Amino acid sequence: MNRQQLIDEILREKRQRDVCILAHTYQSPDILEIADITGDSFALSKAAAQVKNRTILMCGVRFMAETVKILSPEKTVLLSHKNATCPMADQMTKEQVLAYRAKHPDHMVVAYINTSAELKSVCDVCVTSSSAVQIVRQLPAQDIYFVPDQNLGAYVAAQVPEKNIHLYNGCCPVHYQVTAQDVLDEKARHPGAKVAMHPECPPEAVALADFVGSTSAIIDYILHTDQEVIIATERGVYDDLRYRHPEKKLYQLLPEKFSCVNMKMTTLQGVYCALSGVSGCEITLDEQLRLQAKNAIDNMLAYGG
Ligand code: SF4
Repeated sequence: MNRQQLIDEILREKRQRDVCILAHTYQSPDILEIADITGDSFALSKAAAQVKNRTILMCGVRFMAETVKILSPEKTVLLSHKNATCPMADQMTKEQVLAYRAKHPDHMVVAYINTSAELKSVCDVCVTSSSAVQIVRQLPAQDIYFVPDQNLGAYVAAQVPEKNIHLYNGCCPVHYQVTAQDVLDEKARHPGAKVAMHPECPPEAVALADFVGSTSAIIDYILHTDQEVIIATERGVYDDLRYRHPEKKLYQLLPEKFSCVNMKMTTLQGVYCALSGVSGCEITLDEQLRLQAKNAIDNMLAYGG
């Protein structure tokens, strides 16, 4: 099948099987084009709970499909590629959190939404990169254990100095690679450009950014500025914006490094195979675990996240 035939088949299968396709912004332009809804992970999960379709196909990584299942247990949730996992989400186990809690019963455990359902099930509250500062500031505990991303945790600690933030040493292997020198070099190449960076990048690089925010916040920032922007996050954001807004002057920091192999596992062929039941995988969760994980997400929403 050529590309157009493949797209036609995907759209036919999608209609026939009553499927809604969600695609994370880090997916390739091909996948974003055939998706019903695009966005960052939590926005997609919330949107999935509102749609009428019986089946959701998540084009992203496993923790995102699990979050959809946590919020929409009555729906069949499929992941586009069975091996698409997030290395950061797999860097910490439930047992490590439980051991920490046993030692520090007065600390609250805050989990980045980029974690497995199992890890969420033993944490007090989830946060997204856009809500982390606001939520941590409101928590009743003085001591906070922030897991698993040490860079997002360090960013929160800098914004909320009144709390004692204890960090786990996890990180996103994609965002972790950027150095302060990389930022200085790119700024020297484009002296008039602003730097928009994701807080999963190391603190010394974040300190040089003009704007720090989540994937959605970076997109919003770019859409509302006339200035040139250097983008320091996964290159799916750059690729999508270049496609939709060719008039904007955008530069991708470290284009070779800022690509998540797990996010890019999904192809049009893979989507077709997942829809027709040849590959992909269905997400199932034990009901008690789902409810415990949902509790951390509900707490996030209660704090306005
Ligand atoms: S970009 Fe980083 S946090 Fe996002 S899925 Fe890839 S490894 Fe995980």
